[in-house]
Amino acid sequence: MKINKTVIIGSGTMGSGIAAQLCNANIPVTLLDLKTEICQKAKDRIYKSRPPLLIDKSKIDNIKIGNIEENFDVVKNADWIVEAVVERIDIKHKIYEKIFKNRKTGAIVSSNTSSIPIKILSQNLTPEEKKDFCITHFFNPVRYMGLLEIVKNENNDLNKINYLKRFCEEQLGKGAIICNDTPGFLGNRVGVYAMQVAMTEAFKMKMSIEESDAIFGRPMGIPKTGVFGLYDLIGIDLMSDVLKSFVKELPKNDEFQKVAVEIPLIKKLVDMGYTGRKGKGGFYRINKINDKKILEAINLETEEYSPSKKIDINFEKVDLKKLINRNDKYGKYAWSVISKIIKYASSLVPQVTNKFNDIDEAMRLGFNWSKGPFEMLKEIGVKNFFNKVDNYKDNKFLENLSKTLNEDFYGERQLYTEIETLGKIKSKAIQFDRNNSAEIYRFKDYNIVEFTSKANSLDYESMDCLKKATDKPLIIINESMQFSAGVNLNYVMNFAEKNDFKSIENFIKYFQETCKLLKYSKYPVVSAPSGLTLGGGFEVVVQSNFVVSHMNIVMGLVETIVGLVPAGGGCKEMLWRWSQTNEGKNDPDFAPMKVFEIIGYAKTATSPVEAESLLLLNSNDKKIMNRNSLFQESKKILTENRDFIPPKECKFKLSGTKVREKMFKTLEKLYKDKKILDHGMVVGKELAYVLSGGDTNLDNEINEDHIYKLELNSFMKLIETENTQKRIKHTLKTGKPLIN
Ligand code: NAD
Repeated sequence: MKINKTVIIGSGTMGSGIAAQLCNANIPVTLLDLKTEICQKAKDRIYKSRPPLLIDKSKIDNIKIGNIEENFDVVKNADWIVEAVVERIDIKHKIYEKIFKNRKTGAIVSSNTSSIPIKILSQNLTPEEKKDFCITHFFNPVRYMGLLEIVKNENNDLNKINYLKRFCEEQLGKGAIICNDTPGFLGNRVGVYAMQVAMTEAFKMKMSIEESDAIFGRPMGIPKTGVFGLYDLIGIDLMSDVLKSFVKELPKNDEFQKVAVEIPLIKKLVDMGYTGRKGKGGFYRINKINDKKILEAINLETEEYSPSKKIDINFEKVDLKKLINRNDKYGKYAWSVISKIIKYASSLVPQVTNKFNDIDEAMRLGFNWSKGPFEMLKEIGVKNFFNKVDNYKDNKFLENLSKTLNEDFYGERQLYTEIETLGKIKSKAIQFDRNNSAEIYRFKDYNIVEFTSKANSLDYESMDCLKKATDKPLIIINESMQFSAGVNLNYVMNFAEKNDFKSIENFIKYFQETCKLLKYSKYPVVSAPSGLTLGGGFEVVVQSNFVVSHMNIVMGLVETIVGLVPAGGGCKEMLWRWSQTNEGKNDPDFAPMKVFEIIGYAKTATSPVEAESLLLLNSNDKKIMNRNSLFQESKKILTENRDFIPPKECKFKLSGTKVREKMFKTLEKLYKDKKILDHGMVVGKELAYVLSGGDTNLDNEINEDHIYKLELNSFMKLIETENTQKRIKHTLKTGKPLIN
């Protein structure tokens, strides 16, 4: 069997998200809804979505639309029909009746339901039809969430299920985990339980919502939205419905029931229209006071809002042992929440799944946790855990583990996929070196560097690991959300505040030296970015010999936003790339002008397709749908390049003042139109100086070091200005740019 044509019925949030991802994979899809206009609106929504659901706007042409009355015939030709209508069993049943009357024999039919069991969905189907019917539970937003749960039961044709799994892995890029037909499957069963525990414990322990989110967040390797922030994001009303369905579906003695009891404050918020970010606000809200927007948080006891307080729990790196052993309420809260999550997740083994590993991976892929409950248990240490935990009666998994106290109970990672993932390799490789910002793994005859800092921002230590790792073929890759958000601005500002500019200069020089090594050392270097690949992160990628890029990247040189210029070779590489185009070869000012525009406006690409049009990526760089495959593809490149010869150094001819004048004209116009202000002009002129080649003319041939030097000088001049420092501080504090 082969999936060539698809139909999706229901063009709401999920139907349109799945349709967009099929478009990204170049698989023709027809979207049907009650009315064609509803689908047209969905199509418009996809086109305009932010962050974009499409990897390239032109992909929208892969979607055809129609309505279920006039256009149902398309089902006859489809190989896979996905039902994504409202969560109402009567409506779903009617649709299945129609689908199975029309589908071609053997076509797969799946539902995106999040809460209705297969046995109920398929109760009216014949045994033959049941073979081809399953649940494909995608997560929102479909392009960005890694998890897809494929739910089967005893009636399914397993060959077909496995085919669908491979298709969704390879073509749609999903981490597809096959689950049994149990309520909430794996992701939501544990993820929603975890949220409820974090919430109910916060009430019990009289934590403020900011405190709770500060613990049940980054310090636990969980996204910083925490629990109350996540509730607001998902929608408090939607979460209430999800809980009701769990209460209905789960046995009365399931631990989940204890944390799913309706909380009066939640009912009150929903009744008043405080449904979260989509409504008037939720646990947090934005209030306007004297024309100023203020973030407020609700007090769980008084139920009143007041300005949200920033909680500093003095945390630098995820260290669960340290966190749960803290002798304050934060430590107690963390232990209470983590131990309950571990107990609940392990109580599901073996009845819900006999693969505990799958639960962890579902939490990574579906909730963006950096570790699942069982890996948390491993990190805390089995003996430590049992020394601290109270009862775990009737929990077979923990009872057994308490007997063996086997610290190595975990075994391999990511058993759900056959792909050779980074996660699997890391557990077999030797950890060769590590510091606060990165780790080097050595496996066979090559090295792997994984950045490990917050958002993988780069500092001296990140460069140190990269430099050390160039003694063998190297893959730069990581498992966290971002490849790298760029140079660590906190690190730079710490020096700037002490007027220690020499240390900044040394760091930039070291950055340049390292990138040069990446490019010219005798072994090949492959970078495998996913997520944010900005500023310095991009400079690492662009100076690697090969790139294997995930479809979900945000890539670009964004230094000008914080009043700086790229100084790790970013200006240089972009100049080189644009000078190699036909236009660049004909006109020596073409490349500098083009790069001036790209870096000046801090243009970013939200996919490799967009990145290629800016020459942030090359056409021969690999573009991969499934993030899990980045490692395997990178390794393949190393194998294919055993006789690697480093590239030749690039030489440039730039027109200096001549092209600079043109750039200044652009800046003057922007200044006159008030698109940039005084400091924007200063930054623009520095960028112009670098990209024009400085003090040179077309008769001069300049080398890479010359441009590195220009980058460094301009960077140093700018970082010493008060206005650049103001920009950086503002961005660090608010996450937004300062225009000055
Ligand atoms: P939605 O309300 O956004 O969209 C539902 C769509 O179905 C609407 O466009 C509606 O017009 C259409 N529809 C209703 N009756 C129809 C019919 N008879 N024929 C054709 N179309 C019909 O809902 P959603 O959030 O996209 O959810 C769809 C399914 O996905 C549900 O089963 C839900 O449980 C599940 N789900 C939702 C999420 C999520 O985060 N929203 C996540 C996972 C699973």
